[in-house]
Amino acid sequence: MNPLYAGMGTTVFEAMSARARETGAINLGQGFADGRGPEAVLRTAARALLERSNQYPPMPGLPELRRAVADHYARHQGLNLSPEEVIVTSGATEALAASLFATIAPGDEVICFPPLYDAYAPLIRQAGGVPVFVRLGPPEWRIDIAALEAAISPRTRVLLLNNPLNPTATMSSADELAAVAACCVAHDLIAICDEVWEHVTFDGARHLPLIGFPGMRERTIKIGSAGKIFALTGFKVGWMCAAPHLAAVLAKAHQFLTFTTPPNLQWAVAEGLQTQDDWVQAARHRFQAGRDRLRQGLEAAGLVTLPSVATYFLSVDLAASGIALGDMAFCDRLISAGVVAIPVSAFYPEDPVANIVRFCFVKEAATLDAAIERIAKASFA
Ligand code: PMP
Ligand code: GLN
Repeated sequence: MNPLYAGMGTTVFEAMSARARETGAINLGQGFADGRGPEAVLRTAARALLERSNQYPPMPGLPELRRAVADHYARHQGLNLSPEEVIVTSGATEALAASLFATIAPGDEVICFPPLYDAYAPLIRQAGGVPVFVRLGPPEWRIDIAALEAAISPRTRVLLLNNPLNPTATMSSADELAAVAACCVAHDLIAICDEVWEHVTFDGARHLPLIGFPGMRERTIKIGSAGKIFALTGFKVGWMCAAPHLAAVLAKAHQFLTFTTPPNLQWAVAEGLQTQDDWVQAARHRFQAGRDRLRQGLEAAGLVTLPSVATYFLSVDLAASGIALGDMAFCDRLISAGVVAIPVSAFYPEDPVANIVRFCFVKEAATLDAAIERIAKASFA
């Protein structure tokens, strides 16, 4: 067996959701929203399943969806992508795999920034690459540009950035992105930018795509996910956007991963991108209210929270809250009290920061209130 997989555990999101299913605890772990998503998207998916083709769609995606993605980014982010520069994938996870497989040759180094999404390091290694970690530190989680420069070697080929960042719920600033872009240009790196949370931003914050920075149009692979835009995580429809010389190779990697994605879901997402801007904006307000509700409840229970300006997540700083337990032990204790959360140490491939716990707040108010009540009653001494 491949030692990479034989030696690893089940992803923390699945493990924690399984414990929620087993115990009946309220699941504020894995990131998914309550609710059905936009009705028009669901109806288009259902109608297309019954009335349109269910045979292989074109390998790079349905033309309608590739155009809708390009138009969407022109409208929201001022980008000038052509439909040919969009490759549809089965979720951002497949886009990450295809991007890494397409860009890494054995021995190439890939810069990434812990805390990072748990799929990154295994995918880099499976591609034959060597992950090089440039750590971000709480509470700001900013990239130390000097540390980034110091981590670059003649073998560095790719920089993998997640913005907005899961699990820290922060967004890169314009200055930070400009510095990262300058570094990519100076060292001739390809940037893979995982922007799945681009629309889940709060307090009026505006997402800036790395591909829009000087020198980045030709060297950035921008990854998106309909699962996040429409709060339909089970859809697993995503995409990679990149200049033609990159997109051509990305398509080669994609053709031997999944080849295509169910056509009814592609039509539904195309419809959503064209017509559901109001739904996305309303969801943003709903999610922000959930964030505020959970934050107030946790703070009233004596827990210290970290800032959250994007994503579905709010974190508690255990040390600052006067709790001596590590994040794993805290989460175990929390499950006994009837609530599931995610230990942020799971986002570190090495030397974890182990005193931060992530909660998902995109739930009904009553669910958040019930969770808060259980947390307030629990003992973490
Ligand atoms: N990247 C990040 C940073 C994520 O948080 C997630 C899922 N929440 C993904 C990728 C995977 O997205 P998808 O479900 O579209 O594969
Ligand atoms: N990205 C989601 C989260 O951070 C989980 C995705 C998954 O379970 N694969 O909660």
